[in-house]
Amino acid sequence: MMRYVCGACAKDVNTEEIKKRIRCPYCGNKVLFKKRPDIIKKVKAL
Ligand SMILES: [Zn+2]
Repeated sequence: MMRYVCGACAKDVNTEEIKKRIRCPYCGNKVLFKKRPDIIKKVKAL
C-alpha cells in the first residue's frame, strides 16, 4: 500500500482518503510526499 505524508502538517495520509482528490484530509494541503518502503524500514530499524 502506498502511503503519503502531508507537506504541511506532516500527517500520514492513506491512498483511500485521497483517491477522489489529492489533498490532505486534515489541513487541505495539496502537497503530499510519497512514503517509500525503504524509509519505513530505516524507521523500524531504529
Ligand atoms: Zn495536512
